[in-house]
Amino acid sequence: MTTTRFAPSPTGYIHVGNLRTALMNYLIARKAGGTFILRIDDTDPERSKEEYVDAIKQDLEWLGLSWDKLERQSERLDRYVAAADKLREIGRFYEAFETPTELDLKRKKQLNMGKPPVYDRAALALSDEEKAALRAERGDGVWRFKLDHQRIEWTDGILGDISIDAASVSDPVLIRGDGQFLYTLASVVDDTEMGVTHVVRGSDHVTNTATQIQIIEALGGTVPSFAHHSLLTGPQGEALSKRLGTLALRDLREAGVKPMALLSLMARLGSSDPVELRSEMAELIEGFDINRFGAAPTKFDVEDLYPLTARHLQSLPAEAVSAELEAIGVPAEKQASFWDVAKENITTLNDLAGWWQLCRDGAEPLVADEDKDFIAEAMALLPEGPYDTESWKTWTTAVKEATGRKGKGLFMPLRKAVTGMERGPDMSALLPLMEKVRARG
Ligand code: GLU
Repeated sequence: MTTTRFAPSPTGYIHVGNLRTALMNYLIARKAGGTFILRIDDTDPERSKEEYVDAIKQDLEWLGLSWDKLERQSERLDRYVAAADKLREIGRFYEAFETPTELDLKRKKQLNMGKPPVYDRAALALSDEEKAALRAERGDGVWRFKLDHQRIEWTDGILGDISIDAASVSDPVLIRGDGQFLYTLASVVDDTEMGVTHVVRGSDHVTNTATQIQIIEALGGTVPSFAHHSLLTGPQGEALSKRLGTLALRDLREAGVKPMALLSLMARLGSSDPVELRSEMAELIEGFDINRFGAAPTKFDVEDLYPLTARHLQSLPAEAVSAELEAIGVPAEKQASFWDVAKENITTLNDLAGWWQLCRDGAEPLVADEDKDFIAEAMALLPEGPYDTESWKTWTTAVKEATGRKGKGLFMPLRKAVTGMERGPDMSALLPLMEKVRARG
């Protein structure tokens, strides 16, 4: 059975980059009728925060990315202890005592000699006495997994055939000196025990994958299918890493971006399929195919989310936004007609309040000097409300007859006087919603 997982570390809010990972794993599981696990990678007690765990769940719920199981690495430490014991037993795990400074020095020497900065395995040569002495002097060492020096190969769902020489990679540290289990081991143990069949993650994990494949094999697990998506860049191809902090899902939500706009974009961006606005998650699931994604960096422009959001909103009936309409004070009997007028003139729901304020309070008239007399004459012809859908036509016809103006010279000054703006909704539909026209005096 297909099982995927989204495995964020709760050390910050999730952003569009993480969303790509979450969504791809979600869509694979749902398309196959399988299981989607939300796994909180919280083995680092200092950096992991409960508020981020809550925020991750809220963000996924907002998007409708429901999970079938919730797992937390901090509750599975005994499993990692058992795996570490097994690696020791089979001779694939060794303790090393170099300080960060010593490791740094080694790397620099290697680089100077034109060699790749791979850990030299000096710790393998330590006798039991030497280890005991180092332990007494420096405390517990780190535990490294002893890679098998051969090529590690897999067919990546996105990158195609991958082959990495294990000798070009340092033996990964799986347990820190303070006893903390690191992600590389914890993830492998979880993926194996939770029956994860497909792992999609960012291409920054490719080297991890190589080492993890050997760890999985050493522990007797089944290697899942891997796919590594390309990293997101800004619209000009610039690195997005520093800006990702400002692209947190909660900020986008706050800015009025709608889930289906975000999901429609992220489920297709970087694939050979066009981005099309979808109205249902089912359509995204149906059309999803990981093999259609390319390895090239993927350009992401946050501005693309707004036209998609606007189009999504235009497709909604008033009932779908009744809470928002109510929140800004639109009375129930006016909600449908107000929404019909406003929806064509908003980018996000945050823009609704401005239109409602115009209807309720009227606008400061915008009148050019040369139109002053014309507007005064026109306003004398505007009857008192309430207005209906015929009012605009009746009024403008009367103004035309009285002043001889027509076309743009007639309609534009009137629109500006009534709404205070040069552009906006169809006036025949707007006027009946207006409780007050300030220019009328
Ligand atoms: N916690 C890891 C991360 O956020 C998970 C990576 C993975 O998917 O294995 O990078």
